[in-house]
Amino acid sequence: MIIKKSPREIEAMAKAGELSAKALRIAGAAVAPGVSTLELDRIAEEVIRQGGGIPAFKGYGGFPGSICASVNEQIVHGIPAEGVILQEGDIISIDTGATVGGWVGDNAWTFAVGKISPKKQRLLKVTEECMWAGIDAARPGNHLGDIGHAIQQIAEANGYGVVREYVGHGIGRVMHEEPNVPNYGRKHSGVPLEVGMVLAIEPMINMGTYKTKQMPDGWLVCTRDGKPSAHFEKTVAITEDGPLVLTVEPDHRRPID
Ligand code: MG
Repeated sequence: MIIKKSPREIEAMAKAGELSAKALRIAGAAVAPGVSTLELDRIAEEVIRQGGGIPAFKGYGGFPGSICASVNEQIVHGIPAEGVILQEGDIISIDTGATVGGWVGDNAWTFAVGKISPKKQRLLKVTEECMWAGIDAARPGNHLGDIGHAIQQIAEANGYGVVREYVGHGIGRVMHEEPNVPNYGRKHSGVPLEVGMVLAIEPMINMGTYKTKQMPDGWLVCTRDGKPSAHFEKTVAITEDGPLVLTVEPDHRRPID
């Protein structure tokens, strides 16, 4: 069942979104060669707790971190670790979320570590573009498939693979609610999008094949061909006026056309 949120509930969710965005921004600002992913985890957790939130990822299904930290060919769900040290030229997806007042925010961004190759730069640029196109499609009158279609079209036009096994999701009092939000799809397919739905829209785009590989720790997912992958995510409410991004800080707002 898709649980729609009232305007007042969406306002409450925006508080969780704001703290999630702050944690992501501050952890992202610490990304540099020589920094461990565990250090980024500590930073995000501190921001979330100081802001009166609870790290939404910590303990979720037994996940040990407050962030997922996924480097280069790692797509999602990397466990932060002391031994994973960022190197110049890496890309790292940081995915983090906060629970505030019983509501969850969820967001991710892929950061460059120092100077990265033009190929990786392009992957990041296109994947971010995919995310904004997906968000732009999150409007009443559209269907769920319009979000995936918008994302898939841009990714594949650039020669990239769209991950199939991992998808976006509804979000509210728990992190993963119905519906699943695939990053591929056909126009006008799937459930109609309605005012009050809140979705985490999160394209995972691979430089090569869309195929994935589950790693032995049971969490980490990598590209099957070992090529890099990027991941961008925002929590978005569908309103009468269109998509409203909830994982933003007022001072760092980026308007949607
Ligand atoms: Mg998510």
